Amino acid sequence: MADLIRALSCGDSLDKVAGIAYRLDGVARRTKARSFAASLDALIPAWDLLDWSSYFYRPAPEGRLAIVSSSRGCQQACSFCSQQKFWERSWRDRSPESFVGELEMLRDRYDVRIAMLSDETPTVSRERWQRILDLLIERQVGVELLLETRVPDIIRDQDILSRYHEAGISHIYVGVEATNQATLDLYKKDILVAHSKRAIELINEHDIVSETSFVLGNPDETKESIETTVDLAKWFAPDMAFFLAIAPWPYADIYPDLEPHVATHDYRRYNLVEPVVKPRDMTLEEMRQALFKATGSFFHDKFERLDQLTPHKRNYMIDVLRLLIEHSYLGDEMKKMAGHASMPPAVRRMLAELGISIPGSSSGDSQTRRAS
Ligand code: SF4
Repeated sequence: MADLIRALSCGDSLDKVAGIAYRLDGVARRTKARSFAASLDALIPAWDLLDWSSYFYRPAPEGRLAIVSSSRGCQQACSFCSQQKFWERSWRDRSPESFVGELEMLRDRYDVRIAMLSDETPTVSRERWQRILDLLIERQVGVELLLETRVPDIIRDQDILSRYHEAGISHIYVGVEATNQATLDLYKKDILVAHSKRAIELINEHDIVSETSFVLGNPDETKESIETTVDLAKWFAPDMAFFLAIAPWPYADIYPDLEPHVATHDYRRYNLVEPVVKPRDMTLEEMRQALFKATGSFFHDKFERLDQLTPHKRNYMIDVLRLLIEHSYLGDEMKKMAGHASMPPAVRRMLAELGISIPGSSSGDSQTRRAS
């Protein structure tokens, strides 16, 4: 960015700025690749420029949230993923001391209580990750951490997952993506179905909120195969699961296989919610409905079993339900689910107390108005 601004202000040719693409006289041009920054520790975000009042975590609105980075990149080769392309399958890390020091600074200077790691794979190096956990515990940093990682890293770290919990990690997303091995292999996920289930169990056993997603909508997808995935997702038992539409960017490894089935190149629709690949036996609209229904069905089942969760998770999941209804693209589907006759009365009562409007409930509407 500095090079670009310098070139623009001096009237230099943009061709000299490595790592950009631009249009000149209607023609797209791309300059030579830029090498990665040598040291991530040297990159200090301008935290003082943030309007911190906008940064809070909805499940705990009193807690100020920061989005932090302890590493960049991913060395995996998942065939649908753009991250590995963007980072050229590299992984670079910050030193544990620098990362933990930044969390302390954010806590002390900006009252940050919760931090979400933007890392694709923060736990690649067990040695480094253990050092981070040790520092977080020794220094009693006390900042709650939300992160995503890979199934094999959770399996690898099962002997230190209690340290994760002790260090303040409260929410882990692992990309499970599929419940059958053939699809996992097609996606080049380099994980086993059995390990995915075990990783979620391990996260749950440590009272850490578990979240995952499933990528649906391949050409051979059917309503029945989606139902099977949803049933298996319930059996895997993460606290949260989202069912996403495969969106193969033209540079993804899987693109050539899917290209004949790609229904649109309107990239605004490549948002994982709207299907862009048409299964042979389903219309795009059927696929869209099936994705909403899948997530609705998963959470319906989850909220029927709220009493099986620890008190901490139960409260968290009630907040999640409210967020899904009031602030997510799933709002309408979740409302329908909440209004369904089989919704447990206790959950209905909780929703009403939270002021959430429930179709078919006599008190929901007025309570929502009061709450708002
Ligand atoms: S899906 Fe995740 S693990 Fe796979 S390449 Fe992308 S960032 Fe890496």
